[in-house]
Amino acid sequence: MRRLLTDSQASRHEEFKSFVKLNVEPFAEQWDREQEIPRSVISSLAQRGYLGCSLPADYGGQGSDAVTFGLLNEALGRGSSALTGVLTVQSMVSMALLKWGTAEQKRSWLPPLATGKMIGAFGLTEPGAGSDLQSLTTEFTRTSGGESLLLNGHKKWISCAQFADLFLVFGRLERRPAACLVPRNAPGLGVEPICDLMGFRAAGLAQLHFEDVEVPSENLIGKPGFALSHVAPVGLQYGRISTAWSALGLLRGCFEESIAYAAARRIGGGTVGDLGMIRSLIARMGTDLEAGSLLCHNACRAEDDHLPEAFERTLTAKYFTSKAAVRAASDAVQIRGAAGCHGSSPVSRYYRDAKIMEIIEGTTQVHEDILGKMFVARAGGPGK
Ligand SMILES: Cc1cc2nc3c(=O)[nH]c(=O)nc-3n(C[C@H](O)[C@H](O)[C@H](O)COP(=O)(O)OP(=O)(O)OC[C@H]3O[C@@H](n4cnc5c(N)ncnc54)[C@H](O)[C@@H]3O)c2cc1C
Repeated sequence: MRRLLTDSQASRHEEFKSFVKLNVEPFAEQWDREQEIPRSVISSLAQRGYLGCSLPADYGGQGSDAVTFGLLNEALGRGSSALTGVLTVQSMVSMALLKWGTAEQKRSWLPPLATGKMIGAFGLTEPGAGSDLQSLTTEFTRTSGGESLLLNGHKKWISCAQFADLFLVFGRLERRPAACLVPRNAPGLGVEPICDLMGFRAAGLAQLHFEDVEVPSENLIGKPGFALSHVAPVGLQYGRISTAWSALGLLRGCFEESIAYAAARRIGGGTVGDLGMIRSLIARMGTDLEAGSLLCHNACRAEDDHLPEAFERTLTAKYFTSKAAVRAASDAVQIRGAAGCHGSSPVSRYYRDAKIMEIIEGTTQVHEDILGKMFVARAGGPGK
């Protein structure tokens, strides 16, 4: 991977990996078991400026390029997918606001998000609207004077909502898709924790219940009508970059754990790594790791260069690495045998977390639908 990076990116990656080795890897199993990430860990991400990695320095961020943001997600993904989820949604909210917020909104909200004084959550999915966002039913109504909005509705599966301070909520205003910021302490907002997920168990998911929640009209982000076509896609682009790299980190974890085990575990007269069938599994894992890394770099270079193909490349990277992570985690458990099935081995957690990567930020099938359509359209066929 090193040859793809500038010296500064390579040194940031080493810094991120050291942070994870010391502060994340030893504790990730415990967080998973307890279904909670201690606030002190999120504070230490904030203190290092990681939660504002991609935001410009003018707003208190680090102004890092997309590749460096990706490397941070890769390093965190090796340690804990749930913790990476905090960075994922923080960047989704921040980058949507950076792109579509007014000067005043950016001045008010971006500095606390950049420094981690405020944790954001991205409130898009509803019980009846996941992949099909056109079915959103959360309703925003203008109060009689027009200075406030009243929110009514229900969001589900919202990462970090258990502890977030600020929600970017999507709904409908006069039937048009709209997005607005809702502070956690807004009266009428109920937060109901979701426990016992298969993976991402410490990511603080919750349902949100809005009952006549009143927010100032100036909290609307972007023009009504543009929330799903403009605001959400910016957040989702960063969500996919984050998830693609996080899956790559998990894949690296599977690979590193598997080669170490295969070299050390004695079986018959040799080691597990002497067995041809095990070598096949490891060969595929190592190749997926290399291919996934190239796709992730390709996506972030396009993002950094503001190329129109950034969208397609990011979809491709997220699609590939999430599927490869599921394969690698399954094979990593297989290589360890019974030891891989126990909570004392990180690969059992990787196995549960990897599957989530195929569902968040657009499912694998949604990625196939969009990518397949784009590829066919290139030939001017019926997908156009
Ligand atoms: C751990 C976790 C964290 C999450 N965090 C957030 C968050 O922070 N914010 C947020 O808003 N949401 C979040 N979500 C929700 C997530 O974005 C949705 O689960 C996802 O968009 C899929 O929606 P759904 O679960 O309603 O499935 P559905 O959309 O109901 O899909 C059901 C099945 O139909 C398939 N399908 C759907 N559409 C198509 C299509 N066009 N072609 C082919 N197949 C299709 C899907 O692939 C799936 O297999 C999170 C989910 C999880 C599990």
